[in-house]
Amino acid sequence: MGLFRPDFLLFACLFVLFGIVIAINRITLTHKVYLAFHFVMMLWPLGQFAVSTTDLPQYQALFSQMSFAAVGLLGPGWLFFVLFLTQRSSLLTPARAALSMIPSVLCIAAIVWNPQHWFFRPIDGQYAERGYGPLFWLLALIQLGYFFATLIFMFQTLKNDSSVNKRKQIAAALIGMFVLTGFAVLDILVNVLLRDSLPVIPGLMSLGLLLADCCFILAVYRYGMFDILTMAQQDIVNHMAIGIVVIDEEGKVLESNRGARPFVSTAKGGIFSMEAFLAPVEAQEEVREFLYRYRHHPEERMRTDVSLADERYVSVEISPVLDETKSALGRVIMLHDVSEQRKLVDEMNRKNEALHERNLELITIQEELFRVNQKLEQMAITDSLTGCYNRRFLMQQLEHEVLLNLRYRIPFSIFLFDIDHFKQINDIHGHLVGDEVIRRTADAVRTSLRRTDILARYGGEEFTVYLPHTNQEQAGMLAERIMQSVMENRVEAGREKVGITISMGIVSVDTFDQQVVEVKEYLRSLFSRADSALYKAKNEGRNRVIVAQTS
Ligand code: GH3
Ligand code: MG
Ligand code: MG
Repeated sequence: MGLFRPDFLLFACLFVLFGIVIAINRITLTHKVYLAFHFVMMLWPLGQFAVSTTDLPQYQALFSQMSFAAVGLLGPGWLFFVLFLTQRSSLLTPARAALSMIPSVLCIAAIVWNPQHWFFRPIDGQYAERGYGPLFWLLALIQLGYFFATLIFMFQTLKNDSSVNKRKQIAAALIGMFVLTGFAVLDILVNVLLRDSLPVIPGLMSLGLLLADCCFILAVYRYGMFDILTMAQQDIVNHMAIGIVVIDEEGKVLESNRGARPFVSTAKGGIFSMEAFLAPVEAQEEVREFLYRYRHHPEERMRTDVSLADERYVSVEISPVLDETKSALGRVIMLHDVSEQRKLVDEMNRKNEALHERNLELITIQEELFRVNQKLEQMAITDSLTGCYNRRFLMQQLEHEVLLNLRYRIPFSIFLFDIDHFKQINDIHGHLVGDEVIRRTADAVRTSLRRTDILARYGGEEFTVYLPHTNQEQAGMLAERIMQSVMENRVEAGREKVGITISMGIVSVDTFDQQVVEVKEYLRSLFSRADSALYKAKNEGRNRVIVAQTS
C-alpha cells in the first residue's frame, strides 16, 4: 500500500518525534497545548494541498480525511487553549479532558470510517470535488458546540478579570476565534452550499486559520501568556503549604492560593473579614490584641498564633502592600497550619517538665542519700550507747597518728580505764542503770578532755583515750582530773545515788629510740602494756592510776 512508502514513513517518524519533543521537553503545559493546537491548524491547509497534488482517489480521500480530522480536533484544541489562556487549566482534570474529547473523537471516527459516504463522497470519482453527507453537518455542529462552550469561558473571564492585560489577551483570542469561525462558515456557504451557483473560492478555511492564528499569537506573545516567570510564581504560590490571601484595602480578595482553602472560603472578588475569621476564638486575649492592631494599623506587619475552634493551630501573618508614600494598598495574609509543630512543642514541653520534676525528685533522693550516708558513716565509727568513737575507728586513727608521732618524735599517751565493780552495779540496780552509768562515765571523762583527745569505748565498760602531744607527766595530771570528775559524777538509781570509780592504766611514749616496723604490732604492745597497768590498778585496790612501765 502506498502509505508505506519510505517518505511517508519518514514523515510519520518525524511527526512522532515532534510529539515526543513537545511531550518531554521542559516547556510548560501551556506551551505544549498551544503547539499542539498550532500543529492541528497546520494540518488543514497541508491536507488540502496534498489533495490537489494527486489524481488518485484513495490518496485524495486520505488527505481529505486528514484535513477534516484536523478540523475535528480544532474544537477541543480551542477549548483547551482557552482554558489555559484564562488560567482555568485546573478545571481540566484527565477525566474531564477525556470527556470533552469524546465528540471530537466520534467526529474523527466518522470521517475515517465515512460509512455509506455519509461524511463525504467523490464527485466524478474524484475527492478534489466533494459532496457532503449528514455526518459532515454533524461535524460542523459539534465544532460550533465547542466554539460556544469556549466563548462562555472567555466572556466569564472578561467579566471577572480586572487585569487590563488579560482582557486584551482574551479579546485578541476572541477575535481569532470569530475570524476562524467566520471563514469556516463562509467556506461552507460558498464552497459547499452555494457550490453550484457560485465559483469555488479555494483556501478560505486556510486563510481563516492563518488570520486566526495571527490573533492567537498576538494573544499568546504580546500579552504575555507565556510569561514563564509569572506562571512559575503563580505555580509556586499555588503549591505552597502556606495559605496566601491577597486583599485590597476594602478586604476584597484579589488572589488566594490553594493552601488558603482550608482556612478561607471567600472566593476571588469576595470580601474577606478577619473579624469573621477569628470570631470563634475572639475570646483569646492575644486574638483581641491582634484584631485591634489589624483594624487600626493597616501599614504594619503583624503575626499571631491562633488556636482555632477545630483544634487546628494556625500562624497568621499579615504583611502590608504599600505604595511609594508608604500608605497601604492592601495586605497579604499568610496562614500556616502549625498544629503538628505545636503538638511537638507541647509534647516536648511536657516531657521537659516531667524531666524537671524527675530531676527534682532525684536531687531530693540524692540529698536524702547523702544524709543517710553521713549518718551511716557516723554510726560506723561511733558507739550507740555513749556517742563516743568505737574501738575500730580509734585503732584506724591510731595506726596513722602513731606513725606520724614516731616519725616526728611527738610524745603521746594512751589511757585504758575500766569501771570498778560494775558487775555489782548491774546486779544491784539492773542493766538500765548499768547503761546509764556507762553513759554518764563517758560524759564525765569527755568534759575533762581536750578537743584533740579521742575517747573511744574499748568494750563493755572499758574505755580508752588517745592523747596526742601529751607526755607522761601531762598524762598523769589529766588522768587525775578524769578520776576526779568521774568520782564526782554520781548516778541516780531510784532513791540511791551510785558512786562510780574507775581504774586506769596509762602508757606514754616520749622517748623514740625504738625502731617500729609493724605499726599494728606496736599498737598491740602499747595496749598490752596499758592493760597490764590497768590490771595492776585493779589489783592494788582499784580507783587509781598506774603508769605502765617503759618497755
Ligand atoms: P572490776 O572492778 O574487776 O572491773 O569488776 P567488774 O564487776 O567491773 O568486772 P568486769 O569488768 O569483768 O565486769 C564487766 C561486766 O560489765 C560484765 C558485763 O555483764 C557488764 N557489761 C558489759 N557491757 C555492758 C553494757 O553495755 N551494759 C551493761 N549494763 N553491762 C555491761
Ligand atoms: Mg571490765
Ligand atoms: Mg569493771
